[in-house]
Amino acid sequence: MSILAHRRAARAARRHPDWCAGGHRCNLGEHRADPLTVDVPGLGRALLTRVRGRDGREHAEVTLTVALADAEPVARAQLLGLARDLDVVINRATRASAHPAA
Ligand SMILES: [Zn+2]
Repeated sequence: MSILAHRRAARAARRHPDWCAGGHRCNLGEHRADPLTVDVPGLGRALLTRVRGRDGREHAEVTLTVALADAEPVARAQLLGLARDLDVVINRATRASAHPAA
């Protein structure tokens, strides 16, 4: 890549995409949207945030809070089920991005 092309790419990366929340959320070379909150009262909450990294690639950042049972081994079984479900979610999201028309 020529120096001019590199500078153009760097300038384009600094521009905020229309979904970027700007302000304190957008720094250190990243652009971040306002998080989308999915709240299930008494059970849990998920925060999904669209992020464009310094390298220009985008990803979804997911923060998940789930209520667990007070007793073992139920809480441990819940965590195991959650891990399995997250595997399904990640695989589904990856398939969707690989085949957007499907
Ligand atoms: Zn930004």
